[in-house]
Amino acid sequence: MVPTGGLRMHMRDRSSGDGSGDSSSDTGGESSQGSRAGLGRGALGSATFGSHTFSLETMRKRLPRPVYEAIHATIRRGEPLDPALAEFVAGAMKDWALEHGATHFTHWFHPLSGATAEKHDAFLSLSGGQAIEAFSGHQLIQAEPDASSFPSGGMRSTFEARGYSAWDPTSPAFLVFNEKGATLTIPSVFVSFTGEALDTKTPLLRSQRELSRAAVRVLRLMGHDAQRVVSTLGAEQEYFLVKSEWHEGRPDLQVTGRTLLGAQPPKGQQLEDHYFGAIDERALDFMAEVEAQAWRLGIPLKTRHNEVAPHQYEAAPIFTAGNLAADQNQILMEIMRKVARRRGLSVLLHEKPFAGVNGSGKHNNWSMADDQGANLLEPGDSPNRNVEFLFFITAVVAGVFKRGRLLRCAVAHAGNDHRLGANEAPPAIISVFLGDRLTPILEALRTGKSGADAAQEVIRMGLESLPAVKKDNTDRNRTSPFAFTGNKFEFRAVGSSQSIAVPLCYVNVAVAEALDAMAEALERRMKGGEDKTPAMLAVIREFYEKSRAVVFNGNNYDTAWHEEAARRGLPNDRDTPAALRVLDEPDTASFFERYGIFKPHEVKARYAILVEQYIRQLDIEAVQMLRMVKTGVLPTVFRQQKELADAVAATAAQGVEVDIQKEHLAAYAQAINGCLKAVNAVRALVTHAHHDEPPVHARTVADKLVPAMKSLREACDLLERRTDERAWPFPTYHQLLFQ
Ligand code: ADP
Ligand code: MG
Repeated sequence: MVPTGGLRMHMRDRSSGDGSGDSSSDTGGESSQGSRAGLGRGALGSATFGSHTFSLETMRKRLPRPVYEAIHATIRRGEPLDPALAEFVAGAMKDWALEHGATHFTHWFHPLSGATAEKHDAFLSLSGGQAIEAFSGHQLIQAEPDASSFPSGGMRSTFEARGYSAWDPTSPAFLVFNEKGATLTIPSVFVSFTGEALDTKTPLLRSQRELSRAAVRVLRLMGHDAQRVVSTLGAEQEYFLVKSEWHEGRPDLQVTGRTLLGAQPPKGQQLEDHYFGAIDERALDFMAEVEAQAWRLGIPLKTRHNEVAPHQYEAAPIFTAGNLAADQNQILMEIMRKVARRRGLSVLLHEKPFAGVNGSGKHNNWSMADDQGANLLEPGDSPNRNVEFLFFITAVVAGVFKRGRLLRCAVAHAGNDHRLGANEAPPAIISVFLGDRLTPILEALRTGKSGADAAQEVIRMGLESLPAVKKDNTDRNRTSPFAFTGNKFEFRAVGSSQSIAVPLCYVNVAVAEALDAMAEALERRMKGGEDKTPAMLAVIREFYEKSRAVVFNGNNYDTAWHEEAARRGLPNDRDTPAALRVLDEPDTASFFERYGIFKPHEVKARYAILVEQYIRQLDIEAVQMLRMVKTGVLPTVFRQQKELADAVAATAAQGVEVDIQKEHLAAYAQAINGCLKAVNAVRALVTHAHHDEPPVHARTVADKLVPAMKSLREACDLLERRTDERAWPFPTYHQLLFQ
């Protein structure tokens, strides 16, 4: 195996970075001013890295050695905490938290609403009339939040409304500061008493277990003695930053995250002068403060830059283990919201806050690493190593091919519908980019003579030069939804606002399934007496042949590709209702059940929740839009119409020729009529269809309501372009994007 350094380096950073975690002086000084208020005005530096997390290093210093070693092993193996250890850990965690000014603790979890949830309890306890700070092992490992108000997709009727949350020790507890202290926040899973997952973390942890098992099985066949494999993930987060002043004037942005109306300014991103441009000071200050807070929470933010659109930016961390990366991305989004608010800014995490302007995604850079930190998707410098590399690459291709619809489903939600399939983001067709170096090698393997000769031939022709794939820049157009980028895959269809837990989970299981199938084929061949290397090459060949329809290295925006994809039989689920349907299919249910991710009724429940969320989201958008049009746009344009009419009449009364003015007035009135007609169409659809079964209703929403809203928007935008700018009731695109 070739070590990558990336993960290992990061691990080392993490453990040595807890420089200030224990020093009580840290509680004073900078953290009492800045970060106590959740701000952290202190310097950005590696010394503060992880100082607000109850990290491994902090545990090492504070726990008896055998306890520390036991918990370290638990974390490494990704297992739940042994209750026998909980009392020790809780005591140390409480002391650490109190020293940092914490007053409360909370289990922090990820219900199916897509947001995060927390319920705070004070450490306060009354003992014989005395107030003391208490926190037991039981409170650390388990809490019982009332589950009845979280989405359960109908499972609630069959099971008790009780849910419980349990600490996931693979993700360190952390502190969230407020003016009066801090809250010890404990990353947790959320499940029902009968074991149903009520969150996104539980299935993710299960998928990690399956990926590990399957990858270890393959590594052992290859002759390695790996114990464990983790998925590694680095999520590039795109976002917009606008002045709060304008945001507050836009109820659509506040309620739905996107502008439901708004005429294009004459200059948008056409000049492409923003991408990688100098970062303006306001944004830079925001970024620096986000980074300072993120670093204290152990989130290794590394990269920041301008994105394509005005006021659009990107932040990317150094990758880490998948489950931790998912938690960290949720925390990062929360930090961004808070910091922006304090600085008079609003962060827009929606996939498409502005029509006609670049949308935002969250590129999930994904790979697998063994317990030595070696990246399984890193090409090496020996033919043997590279056969292994090709084996893992092929497993990813095969997994994406077989479970492409599930991957599409993992990124399906109302916000992402504006992005996927539009001419600026990966299309709804899931394909894999392999590039000009890797593809010919796999193709040669596929078409070559069979048997050991062909294997030798392939090794000779290509495998030594494989390190070159790292430098392969053929993915310049960056249009592929799932691209190999040298030593990892980049799942680009993920939406900027969504949790990465679900896409990560589905990729993990899809690859686990492919690895299992390839392991089985390899075992069969080796049992039949074939040598390892030719057997591996034969398996690669077989699976690549079966899955190569999903490989596409061209421009994914090209309509010719859409036709070609249809010819290849690749699915094209264009919108959310279409993409979610895969959850309603027996094959999906049995796949998830086989891999211990969900029981069939849990898949059904998730389907119900997602369909319901889609309908509700669009319903809210439509109602919000009607409200803005009726209380904002229409009164304004009627006033202007009257002014125009009065002006024309008064001018005509002076005997002045006003034919052209009348035309202008008529055109304006015509535009108002168009708007009113569009209002009626949307209104009719909002009240209609509520009696249909949810999946049917969702279809109606996508096929009728969405286009009707688009028409209404066009009608309003036309009026906006013709109406007195000072009278327009909402901040304009110009203000939002250029001020
Ligand atoms: P870009 O894709 O913009 O060229 P990079 O290749 O530097 O940028 O990396 C983008 C993201 O991919 C970063 O978050 C980085 O940490 C992450 N990344 C790099 N290697 C891996 C890996 N082996 N597994 C997961 N993520 C990775
Ligand atoms: Mg990238």
